[in-house]
Amino acid sequence: MALVNEHYLKLTAGYLFPEIARRVNAFAAEVPARAAEIIRCGIGDVTEPLPPSAVAAMRAATDELAVRATFKGYGPGTGYESVRAAIAQGDFRSRGLEVADDEIFLSDGSKGDCGGILEILGAGNRIAVTDPVYPVYVDANVMFGNAGAAMTGGGYEGITYLPCQESNGFLADIPSSSVPAPDVIYLCSPNNPTGTVMDRARAEAWVAYARSHRSILFWDAAYEAYNRDANAPRSIYEIAGARECAIEFRSFSKSGGFTGVRCGYTVVPKSVCAYTREGQAVSLHGLWTRRWNTRSNGVSYAVQRGAEALYTEAGRREVAALVDFYMENARILREGCTNLGLKTWGGVNAPYVWAKTPSGFDSWSYFDHLLRNARVVTTPGAGFGRCGEGYFRISAFNSRANVQEVVRRLATV
Ligand code: PLP
Repeated sequence: MALVNEHYLKLTAGYLFPEIARRVNAFAAEVPARAAEIIRCGIGDVTEPLPPSAVAAMRAATDELAVRATFKGYGPGTGYESVRAAIAQGDFRSRGLEVADDEIFLSDGSKGDCGGILEILGAGNRIAVTDPVYPVYVDANVMFGNAGAAMTGGGYEGITYLPCQESNGFLADIPSSSVPAPDVIYLCSPNNPTGTVMDRARAEAWVAYARSHRSILFWDAAYEAYNRDANAPRSIYEIAGARECAIEFRSFSKSGGFTGVRCGYTVVPKSVCAYTREGQAVSLHGLWTRRWNTRSNGVSYAVQRGAEALYTEAGRREVAALVDFYMENARILREGCTNLGLKTWGGVNAPYVWAKTPSGFDSWSYFDHLLRNARVVTTPGAGFGRCGEGYFRISAFNSRANVQEVVRRLATV
């Protein structure tokens, strides 16, 4: 008898975005004449074309594959050396941060990595996530057996939720010494969904906390390219001691517009350790290398070449222009919401605006209200966790015309 992974059976109604899609499809079926007017600012998916440097590099790579003399078969499971070197140099060493080429692990995006990394950790770790949170961290931990049953009202038993509310500027506080210390803490800055960035002092406090408890920080920097706050670290390795306790996830999805191309990477410093039950320290770098070489043959050659091209001079300029474009969208959305009297956060160092729902609406009722009356799709804050109730997220990933139209329509409802 084949046994099922029963942890999957604990998962609640589903990932947030399928539920949004269900409501949008139901509305479109109900009022087909208006379906074409729907503007989607819900899911954070880019809309603009790829940087030309990446396109040229991927074309050239495909041409290489078309000729026997330059054909490539299987590549290294963890990424081509030149690509790992371009990343380590471009994102870290050029900024004075110590990261070796072989501490970079290429992948098909950080969504997979922030769950997949759990494979090299033991069962029974106490996991902490922020609330609200990028839902993938939670669901991946449920699947791996790191959570108990779903609780009424949201969340899972056994997961430590770190409340992020107006009172703490939507930034997770260090747990008090009276609660059991989490073994793994997911932090995301710039944050999805709240658009806030973690300041240096708080990041330092988290690194100190992790080191004193022999915990590991999973630092998700998928939106690093949007961070313009000089007081907010762009990489956790800007913080002294982070190489002993932090793994960083990066993605080309929102910097190079690679959501469809699929490429990201994870930084695993050789000095990050987890422990055997007897307390013996084991470097995770070797385990993650082994995991990749056993479980995958790596990222497509052409895609890696496309990612590498983002580090050329032209590539950098193109990425900066793309990020500037979405940040101007964010500014328009944020100011539009503020002008309507909505209280907003984010949208300054992140492509997401987080806003308080007007009185009388909870997250999902305001979602339905905007869908039905403005034909605008947002993301209800409650979908990101209990503390997201009473807020909604608007994504700046859209055309300029759509963003301007969203602001115009919001003023009419
Ligand atoms: N981390 C966060 C916080 C995200 O919002 C996303 C995508 O929306 C990802 C990771 C996943 O990115 P990727 O496209 O690289 O899988």
